[in-house]
Amino acid sequence: MLPRLAYRVLKTADKRCLWKFAWNFGVKGMLSVKRFKRRIKQGEYFPPFLYISIVNSCNLRCQGCWVDVEATRNVIDLDGMNRLIGDAKKHGNTFFGILGGEPFMHPQLLEILAAHPDCYFQVFTNGQFITEKVAIELRRLGNVTPLISIEGRKTASDERRGKTNVFSKTMRGLENCLRHRVLTGVATSVCQSNIDELLTESWLQELIDHGVHYVWYHTYRPVGPKMNSELALRPGQLVRVRKFIVEMRAKMPIAMIDAYYDDRGQALCPMSTGISHHINPRGDIEPCPIIQFATENIRDPRGVFTTMRDSAFLRDFRELSAKATRGCVVLERPDLVKELVLKHGARDTTSRGTAMAELEAMEPRFSQWLPGEEIPEKHWMYRLAKRFWFSDFGAYRNAPHDVPAKAEMLKSRLDLDSGIANNAARSQHGMKQIA
Ligand code: SF4
Repeated sequence: MLPRLAYRVLKTADKRCLWKFAWNFGVKGMLSVKRFKRRIKQGEYFPPFLYISIVNSCNLRCQGCWVDVEATRNVIDLDGMNRLIGDAKKHGNTFFGILGGEPFMHPQLLEILAAHPDCYFQVFTNGQFITEKVAIELRRLGNVTPLISIEGRKTASDERRGKTNVFSKTMRGLENCLRHRVLTGVATSVCQSNIDELLTESWLQELIDHGVHYVWYHTYRPVGPKMNSELALRPGQLVRVRKFIVEMRAKMPIAMIDAYYDDRGQALCPMSTGISHHINPRGDIEPCPIIQFATENIRDPRGVFTTMRDSAFLRDFRELSAKATRGCVVLERPDLVKELVLKHGARDTTSRGTAMAELEAMEPRFSQWLPGEEIPEKHWMYRLAKRFWFSDFGAYRNAPHDVPAKAEMLKSRLDLDSGIANNAARSQHGMKQIA
């Protein structure tokens, strides 16, 4: 697979874009994880990967979106981003995830990217504002990869994203990027309405034929003011997604990202491991994008490094969620999230002011942690990359996970694929071995 992938990327992406990716993200990204590991040894936490929502506005209205897209516009402006990135750079960070709302609705996005040629940016976008002119500028900058979200073909896209002609407008933005040889990815949050359409080898082949360089399959998180929990995946489907990714990584000449499993297929939470935290458009520092509570803000004169390093709220979230689960604490233990928020007197960071009510309305549900269903990486490149640069960094070392209780929870959910419940019970011993 790898020679075909390398040949395809070298043939279709601009050389300077590839150089910036290899150096700013590849080499310097590895060094930033090394510095992160060194900090952990000293008991200090500051994530090597910051995810920053620079604007809340968006032109779409997606089901399951937790962002206040209709509220008054909030942005982190160029000066604010320069201060934030400048401080993070001093501590070795070079990679930044840029989110929204829709980041291309931020009037200074291209200036922010241009101001930091020594960094690398992944912009999570619906692609609809990427005109030919914008694509040409992204190529010129070279230090950015647009990750364009596609949530289904025409019908599913329109339904899921609450507008019309979503698929065709997004594909136009995608084509502009690929025509101008920008390193480009496609993201999908897999749910009931698109799993059969987009979690297929034929869809991957279609993306390869278009010239797409990588994909990221997230799994739908039923959170926010319009949770649409009926869209969420069942455990059997979560295993199907994991199996598909591991199989296709070894077969298809397209790179595939995931953020929820280590090289041995053990579940993890990027927030619990401390590898990433989130900053919202008002500068609030949140444990992760869907935990919309904070006690700190980037406007703190101490700067983002010290503010995050010394945050008792973030530390408690990392440690207590790791103790509770290897999966998603928001989905599995909304009660614990509420407890932590109240303990720290954290404020609701939404404009709608209903984050606590939404949390209280959530039913505990399963997430990526399904003991006994661990699927190790099949391809050596992903095994190595995860072992050295994307593991759990020891976050679960002192976490006595209650596997039998987990198995009980799985069993109680009648709609489960029976096989999984038994595997969970059986893995009680396996886990011990793994641990
Ligand atoms: S808490 Fe859940 S949504 Fe947040 S980073 Fe962890 S797994 Fe992801």
